Amino acid sequence: HVVLGIESSCDDTAVAIISSDRKVLASRIYSDKIVQRRLGGISPKMSATVGRIVIDRLVDECLDESNIRPSDLDAIAVTTKPGLLLSLKVGVDKALSMARRYYLDAIPIHHMRAHAIAPRLLDPTIEYPFLCLLISGGHSIIALVKGPDDFYILGETQKKSPGECLDRIAREMGLPLKTHFAAALEELALKSSPEGYLRFHKLPHRMGSDFNFNNIMIHYFNIIHKSNLLSDDLPDLCASAQFTVTAHLCKALSLVFEYVEKEKIFLTTKKTLIVSGGVAANKYIRGCITKVSEYYGFNTCFPPPKLCTDNAEMIAWLGLELLETNSQCVIRAKDIPMNASMPPLRIEDRWPI
Ligand code: ATP
Ligand code: FE
Repeated sequence: HVVLGIESSCDDTAVAIISSDRKVLASRIYSDKIVQRRLGGISPKMSATVGRIVIDRLVDECLDESNIRPSDLDAIAVTTKPGLLLSLKVGVDKALSMARRYYLDAIPIHHMRAHAIAPRLLDPTIEYPFLCLLISGGHSIIALVKGPDDFYILGETQKKSPGECLDRIAREMGLPLKTHFAAALEELALKSSPEGYLRFHKLPHRMGSDFNFNNIMIHYFNIIHKSNLLSDDLPDLCASAQFTVTAHLCKALSLVFEYVEKEKIFLTTKKTLIVSGGVAANKYIRGCITKVSEYYGFNTCFPPPKLCTDNAEMIAWLGLELLETNSQCVIRAKDIPMNASMPPLRIEDRWPI
Protein backbone atom coordinates (compact mmCIF):
# COMPACT_ATOMS: atom_id res chain seq x y z
CA HIS A 1 0.00 0.00 0.00
CA VAL A 2 0.95 3.64 -0.50
CA VAL A 3 -0.61 6.35 1.67
CA LEU A 4 -0.34 10.12 1.47
CA GLY A 5 -0.54 11.86 4.85
CA ILE A 6 -1.49 15.46 5.51
CA GLU A 7 -0.82 17.28 8.78
CA SER A 8 -2.13 20.78 9.39
CA SER A 9 -3.35 20.80 12.97
CA CYS A 10 -1.40 23.80 14.17
CA ASP A 11 1.12 26.17 12.61
CA ASP A 12 2.96 23.69 10.38
CA THR A 13 1.68 22.28 7.12
CA ALA A 14 3.16 18.95 6.12
CA VAL A 15 2.70 16.22 3.53
CA ALA A 16 4.37 12.81 3.23
CA ILE A 17 4.00 9.65 1.18
CA ILE A 18 4.80 6.31 2.77
CA SER A 19 4.72 2.74 1.49
CA SER A 20 4.02 -0.49 3.38
CA ASP A 21 7.71 -1.37 3.49
CA ARG A 22 8.27 1.63 5.79
CA LYS A 23 9.81 3.75 3.05
CA VAL A 24 9.24 7.50 3.20
CA LEU A 25 8.88 8.15 -0.52
CA ALA A 26 8.63 11.92 -0.08
CA SER A 27 8.10 14.41 2.69
CA ARG A 28 7.63 18.18 2.85
CA ILE A 29 7.01 20.52 5.74
CA TYR A 30 6.31 24.22 5.76
CA SER A 31 6.82 25.98 9.09
CA ASP A 32 5.41 29.39 9.49
CA LYS A 33 7.92 30.74 12.02
CA ILE A 34 8.64 34.05 10.27
CA VAL A 35 5.09 35.28 10.65
CA GLN A 36 5.02 33.97 14.21
CA ARG A 37 8.15 35.83 15.15
CA ARG A 38 6.59 39.01 13.85
CA LEU A 39 3.28 38.46 15.63
CA GLY A 40 4.89 37.09 18.82
CA GLY A 41 2.92 33.83 18.69
CA ILE A 42 0.64 31.64 16.62
CA SER A 43 -2.27 33.34 14.89
CA PRO A 44 -4.80 30.62 13.95
CA LYS A 45 -6.17 32.68 11.09
CA MET A 46 -2.75 33.47 9.70
CA SER A 47 -1.56 29.84 10.05
CA ALA A 48 -4.61 28.62 8.14
CA THR A 49 -4.16 31.24 5.43
CA VAL A 50 -0.52 30.29 4.97
CA GLY A 51 -1.47 26.60 5.02
CA ARG A 52 -3.97 27.12 2.21
CA ILE A 53 -1.34 28.87 0.14
CA VAL A 54 1.28 26.13 0.46
CA ILE A 55 -0.66 22.86 0.68
CA ASP A 56 -1.23 22.26 -3.04
CA ARG A 57 2.44 22.83 -3.77
CA LEU A 58 3.55 20.46 -0.98
CA VAL A 59 1.26 17.70 -2.26
CA ASP A 60 2.44 18.19 -5.86
CA GLU A 61 6.09 18.15 -4.84
CA CYS A 62 5.64 14.92 -2.86
CA LEU A 63 3.85 13.23 -5.77
CA ASP A 64 6.56 14.39 -8.19
CA GLU A 65 9.41 13.27 -5.99
CA SER A 66 7.95 9.84 -5.33
CA ASN A 67 6.94 9.47 -8.95
CA ILE A 68 3.43 8.45 -8.01
CA ARG A 69 0.21 9.44 -9.72
CA PRO A 70 -2.57 10.44 -7.33
CA SER A 71 -4.75 7.64 -8.64
CA ASP A 72 -2.04 5.12 -7.65
CA LEU A 73 -2.34 6.08 -3.98
CA ASP A 74 -4.35 3.72 -1.78
CA ALA A 75 -5.59 6.29 0.68
CA ILE A 76 -5.25 9.81 2.02
CA ALA A 77 -4.70 10.08 5.77
CA VAL A 78 -5.36 13.44 7.36
CA THR A 79 -5.28 14.87 10.88
CA THR A 80 -8.87 15.61 11.89
CA LYS A 81 -8.29 16.34 15.55
CA PRO A 82 -7.18 17.72 17.92
CA GLY A 83 -5.93 21.11 16.77
CA LEU A 84 -6.87 24.57 15.58
CA LEU A 85 -10.12 24.22 13.65
CA LEU A 86 -9.17 26.61 10.87
CA SER A 87 -5.84 24.87 10.30
CA LEU A 88 -7.35 21.38 10.48
CA LYS A 89 -9.85 22.40 7.84
CA VAL A 90 -7.04 23.18 5.39
CA GLY A 91 -5.81 19.57 5.48
CA VAL A 92 -9.26 18.00 5.62
CA ASP A 93 -10.50 20.03 2.64
CA LYS A 94 -7.47 19.01 0.59
CA ALA A 95 -7.78 15.34 1.63
CA LEU A 96 -11.47 15.21 0.80
CA SER A 97 -11.03 16.90 -2.53
CA MET A 98 -8.29 14.43 -3.51
CA ALA A 99 -10.25 11.44 -2.22
CA ARG A 100 -13.30 12.49 -4.25
CA ARG A 101 -11.38 13.32 -7.37
CA TYR A 102 -9.25 10.17 -7.50
CA TYR A 103 -11.69 7.82 -5.73
CA LEU A 104 -9.43 7.10 -2.76
CA ASP A 105 -10.12 5.93 0.79
CA ALA A 106 -9.88 8.66 3.43
CA ILE A 107 -8.49 8.02 6.88
CA PRO A 108 -9.18 10.50 9.69
CA ILE A 109 -6.20 10.58 12.02
CA HIS A 110 -6.03 11.56 15.67
CA HIS A 111 -2.91 13.69 15.88
CA MET A 112 -1.84 12.44 19.33
CA ARG A 113 -2.29 8.81 18.35
CA ALA A 114 -0.07 9.46 15.36
CA HIS A 115 2.60 10.90 17.68
CA ALA A 116 2.32 7.69 19.71
CA ILE A 117 2.87 5.23 16.90
CA ALA A 118 5.49 7.29 15.03
CA PRO A 119 8.46 5.18 16.28
CA ARG A 120 6.97 2.05 14.71
CA LEU A 121 7.69 3.60 11.33
CA LEU A 122 11.42 3.29 11.99
CA ASP A 123 11.50 0.28 14.26
CA PRO A 124 9.46 -2.81 13.29
CA THR A 125 10.49 -4.54 16.52
CA ILE A 126 8.19 -2.30 18.58
CA GLU A 127 5.10 -4.42 19.05
CA TYR A 128 1.69 -3.81 20.58
CA PRO A 129 0.78 -3.45 23.39
CA PHE A 130 3.13 -0.75 24.68
CA LEU A 131 2.97 2.28 26.94
CA CYS A 132 3.45 5.76 25.60
CA LEU A 133 4.08 9.15 27.07
CA LEU A 134 3.08 11.99 24.78
CA ILE A 135 4.49 15.35 25.75
CA SER A 136 3.89 18.19 23.38
CA GLY A 137 2.72 21.77 22.93
CA GLY A 138 -0.90 20.97 23.71
CA HIS A 139 -0.88 17.72 25.67
CA SER A 140 0.63 15.35 28.12
CA ILE A 141 -0.87 11.90 28.00
CA ILE A 142 0.19 8.51 29.29
CA ALA A 143 -1.60 5.76 27.42
CA LEU A 144 -1.65 2.02 26.92
CA VAL A 145 -1.56 1.38 23.17
CA LYS A 146 -3.03 -1.99 22.24
CA GLY A 147 -3.27 -1.43 18.50
CA PRO A 148 -3.44 1.34 15.90
CA ASP A 149 -7.01 2.12 16.91
CA ASP A 150 -7.01 0.80 20.46
CA PHE A 151 -5.78 3.39 22.94
CA TYR A 152 -6.45 3.45 26.64
CA ILE A 153 -5.61 6.65 28.50
CA LEU A 154 -3.99 6.15 31.93
CA GLY A 155 -3.14 9.76 32.73
CA GLU A 156 -3.76 13.09 31.12
CA THR A 157 -2.94 16.74 31.61
CA GLN A 158 -5.36 18.75 33.69
CA LYS A 159 -3.96 22.19 33.05
CA LYS A 160 -1.36 23.34 30.53
CA SER A 161 1.12 21.08 28.78
CA PRO A 162 4.85 20.74 29.42
CA GLY A 163 5.58 22.33 26.03
CA GLU A 164 3.37 25.34 26.64
CA CYS A 165 4.77 25.71 30.15
CA LEU A 166 8.40 25.76 28.96
CA ASP A 167 7.59 27.89 25.91
CA ARG A 168 5.85 30.53 27.93
CA ILE A 169 8.51 30.67 30.62
CA ALA A 170 11.16 31.05 27.90
CA ARG A 171 9.11 33.74 26.15
CA GLU A 172 8.55 35.61 29.40
CA MET A 173 12.32 35.57 29.92
CA GLY A 174 12.75 37.15 26.50
CA LEU A 175 14.55 34.21 24.90
CA PRO A 176 14.67 34.12 21.10
CA LEU A 177 12.42 31.94 18.91
CA LYS A 178 14.43 29.83 16.51
CA THR A 179 12.52 26.61 16.35
CA HIS A 180 10.62 26.68 19.65
CA PHE A 181 11.05 28.93 22.68
CA ALA A 182 11.53 25.81 24.82
CA ALA A 183 14.48 24.74 22.67
CA ALA A 184 16.20 28.06 23.47
CA LEU A 185 15.54 27.37 27.14
CA GLU A 186 17.16 23.95 26.85
CA GLU A 187 20.21 25.47 25.19
CA LEU A 188 20.63 28.17 27.83
CA ALA A 189 20.12 25.68 30.67
CA LEU A 190 23.33 23.96 29.57
CA LYS A 191 25.25 26.98 30.86
CA SER A 192 23.82 26.65 34.34
CA SER A 193 25.92 25.62 37.31
CA PRO A 194 24.81 22.78 39.59
CA GLU A 195 24.77 25.01 42.69
CA GLY A 196 23.23 27.94 40.88
CA TYR A 197 20.03 26.46 39.63
CA LEU A 198 18.95 25.18 43.02
CA ARG A 199 18.32 28.80 44.04
CA PHE A 200 15.11 28.91 42.07
CA HIS A 201 13.56 25.65 43.21
CA LYS A 202 10.58 25.76 45.39
CA LEU A 203 8.44 23.02 44.04
CA PRO A 204 4.90 24.26 43.58
CA HIS A 205 2.29 22.66 45.78
CA ARG A 206 0.04 19.87 44.62
CA MET A 207 2.56 18.01 42.51
CA GLY A 208 0.84 14.66 42.22
CA SER A 209 -0.31 12.13 39.73
CA ASP A 210 -2.23 14.66 37.65
CA PHE A 211 -0.31 16.57 35.10
CA ASN A 212 -0.72 20.19 36.07
CA PHE A 213 1.89 22.43 34.56
CA ASN A 214 0.01 25.59 35.34
CA ASN A 215 1.37 25.81 38.89
CA ILE A 216 4.89 25.39 37.62
CA MET A 217 4.43 28.08 35.01
CA ILE A 218 3.05 30.58 37.51
CA HIS A 219 5.88 29.84 39.96
CA TYR A 220 8.44 30.83 37.32
CA PHE A 221 6.42 33.79 36.07
CA ASN A 222 6.52 35.12 39.63
CA ILE A 223 10.27 34.74 39.82
CA ILE A 224 10.70 36.49 36.47
CA HIS A 225 8.43 39.37 37.39
CA LYS A 226 9.23 39.80 41.06
CA SER A 227 12.98 39.21 41.36
CA ASN A 228 15.54 41.53 39.95
CA LEU A 229 17.04 39.02 37.61
CA LEU A 230 20.39 39.66 35.99
CA SER A 231 21.18 38.17 32.63
CA ASP A 232 23.68 35.92 34.45
CA ASP A 233 20.77 34.37 36.34
CA LEU A 234 18.96 33.22 33.22
CA PRO A 235 20.83 29.93 32.63
CA ASP A 236 20.11 28.85 36.22
CA LEU A 237 16.48 29.82 35.88
CA CYS A 238 16.18 27.82 32.65
CA ALA A 239 17.76 24.76 34.26
CA SER A 240 15.49 25.09 37.27
CA ALA A 241 12.32 25.28 35.15
CA GLN A 242 13.47 22.33 33.06
CA PHE A 243 14.16 20.34 36.22
CA THR A 244 10.77 21.08 37.75
CA VAL A 245 8.84 20.14 34.62
CA THR A 246 10.88 16.94 34.37
CA ALA A 247 10.35 16.04 38.03
CA HIS A 248 6.60 16.41 37.54
CA LEU A 249 6.62 14.20 34.44
CA CYS A 250 8.76 11.54 36.12
CA LYS A 251 6.56 11.47 39.20
CA ALA A 252 3.39 10.86 37.17
CA LEU A 253 5.20 8.31 35.06
CA SER A 254 6.42 6.33 38.05
CA LEU A 255 2.86 6.19 39.40
CA VAL A 256 1.71 4.73 36.09
CA PHE A 257 4.52 2.15 36.08
CA GLU A 258 3.47 1.10 39.58
CA TYR A 259 -0.17 0.86 38.51
CA VAL A 260 0.71 -1.25 35.47
CA GLU A 261 2.75 -3.58 37.67
CA LYS A 262 0.12 -3.85 40.39
CA GLU A 263 -2.77 -4.45 38.00
CA LYS A 264 -0.66 -6.89 35.94
CA ILE A 265 -1.54 -5.07 32.73
CA PHE A 266 -0.42 -7.13 29.78
CA LEU A 267 2.55 -5.81 27.82
CA THR A 268 5.00 -7.54 25.50
CA THR A 269 7.94 -9.21 27.24
CA LYS A 270 10.14 -6.41 26.00
CA LYS A 271 8.29 -3.83 28.07
CA THR A 272 8.39 -0.64 26.03
CA LEU A 273 7.66 2.99 26.79
CA ILE A 274 7.47 5.22 23.75
CA VAL A 275 8.07 8.88 24.46
CA SER A 276 6.99 11.23 21.72
CA GLY A 277 5.75 14.76 21.03
CA GLY A 278 7.84 17.90 20.68
CA VAL A 279 9.00 18.02 24.31
CA ALA A 280 10.60 14.59 23.85
CA ALA A 281 13.21 16.39 21.75
CA ASN A 282 14.66 17.72 25.00
CA LYS A 283 17.84 15.80 25.89
CA TYR A 284 17.67 16.46 29.62
CA ILE A 285 14.06 15.25 29.78
CA ARG A 286 14.96 12.19 27.68
CA GLY A 287 17.78 11.29 30.07
CA CYS A 288 15.64 11.54 33.20
CA ILE A 289 12.72 9.59 31.73
CA THR A 290 15.11 6.85 30.62
CA LYS A 291 16.41 6.48 34.17
CA VAL A 292 12.90 6.21 35.66
CA SER A 293 11.91 3.65 33.02
CA GLU A 294 15.03 1.59 33.61
CA TYR A 295 14.25 1.50 37.31
CA TYR A 296 10.86 -0.06 36.52
CA GLY A 297 12.31 -2.47 33.94
CA PHE A 298 11.05 -0.62 30.86
CA ASN A 299 12.85 0.05 27.60
CA THR A 300 12.49 3.62 26.45
CA CYS A 301 12.12 4.47 22.83
CA PHE A 302 12.37 8.04 21.57
CA PRO A 303 11.75 8.84 17.94
CA PRO A 304 14.41 11.09 16.42
CA PRO A 305 13.59 14.78 17.08
CA LYS A 306 12.27 15.29 13.55
CA LEU A 307 9.60 12.63 14.19
CA CYS A 308 8.85 14.01 17.68
CA THR A 309 7.53 17.36 16.53
CA ASP A 310 4.70 17.69 14.07
CA ASN A 311 5.25 15.91 10.78
CA ALA A 312 3.24 14.17 8.09
CA GLU A 313 5.19 10.90 8.15
CA MET A 314 3.47 9.90 11.37
CA ILE A 315 0.05 10.71 9.90
CA ALA A 316 0.70 8.66 6.75
CA TRP A 317 2.14 5.82 8.84
CA LEU A 318 -0.83 5.56 11.21
CA GLY A 319 -3.07 5.72 8.11
CA LEU A 320 -1.16 2.84 6.63
CA GLU A 321 -1.44 0.74 9.79
CA LEU A 322 -5.19 1.42 9.95
CA LEU A 323 -5.59 0.53 6.29
CA GLU A 324 -3.64 -2.70 6.63
CA THR A 325 -5.52 -3.82 9.73
CA ASN A 326 -8.82 -3.10 7.99
CA SER A 327 -9.80 -0.69 10.71
CA GLN A 328 -13.32 0.68 11.00
CA CYS A 329 -11.71 4.11 10.99
CA VAL A 330 -11.00 3.96 7.27
CA ILE A 331 -13.70 5.68 5.22
CA ARG A 332 -13.99 3.80 1.96
CA ALA A 333 -13.97 5.78 -1.26
CA LYS A 334 -17.53 4.71 -2.05
CA ASP A 335 -18.75 6.16 1.27
CA ILE A 336 -17.34 9.62 0.71
CA PRO A 337 -20.25 11.71 -0.54
CA MET A 338 -19.66 13.78 -3.62
CA ASN A 339 -21.86 16.45 -2.13
CA ALA A 340 -19.64 19.50 -1.82
CA SER A 341 -21.76 20.87 0.99
CA MET A 342 -20.89 18.01 3.34
CA PRO A 343 -19.41 19.60 6.46
CA PRO A 344 -15.73 18.86 5.87
CA LEU A 345 -14.96 18.02 9.49
CA ARG A 346 -17.71 15.44 9.77
CA ILE A 347 -15.25 12.59 9.39
CA GLU A 348 -13.95 13.64 12.79
CA ASP A 349 -17.08 12.15 14.39
CA ARG A 350 -15.99 8.69 13.40
CA TRP A 351 -13.36 8.78 16.06
CA PRO A 352 -14.34 9.94 19.50
CA ILE A 353 -11.33 9.41 21.77
P1 ATP B 1 0.03 18.83 20.10
O1 ATP B 1 0.84 17.74 19.47
O2 ATP B 1 -0.24 18.61 21.55
O3 ATP B 1 -1.17 19.19 19.31
P2 ATP B 1 1.97 20.56 18.98
O4 ATP B 1 1.67 19.78 17.77
O5 ATP B 1 2.05 22.04 18.93
O6 ATP B 1 0.94 20.15 20.10
P3 ATP B 1 4.52 19.38 18.91
O7 ATP B 1 4.81 19.96 17.58
O8 ATP B 1 4.48 17.93 19.06
O9 ATP B 1 3.28 20.05 19.62
O10 ATP B 1 5.60 19.93 19.90
C1 ATP B 1 5.82 21.30 20.05
C2 ATP B 1 6.21 21.53 21.47
O11 ATP B 1 7.45 20.90 21.73
C3 ATP B 1 6.37 23.01 21.75
O12 ATP B 1 5.63 23.40 22.89
C4 ATP B 1 7.85 23.13 22.00
O13 ATP B 1 8.17 24.07 22.92
C5 ATP B 1 8.24 21.76 22.49
N1 ATP B 1 9.67 21.55 22.26
C6 ATP B 1 10.34 21.57 21.08
N2 ATP B 1 11.66 21.43 21.29
C7 ATP B 1 11.83 21.33 22.64
C8 ATP B 1 12.95 21.17 23.49
N3 ATP B 1 14.18 21.09 23.00
N4 ATP B 1 12.72 21.10 24.82
C9 ATP B 1 11.47 21.15 25.32
N5 ATP B 1 10.38 21.33 24.58
C10 ATP B 1 10.55 21.41 23.26
FE1 FE C 1 1.88 17.60 17.70
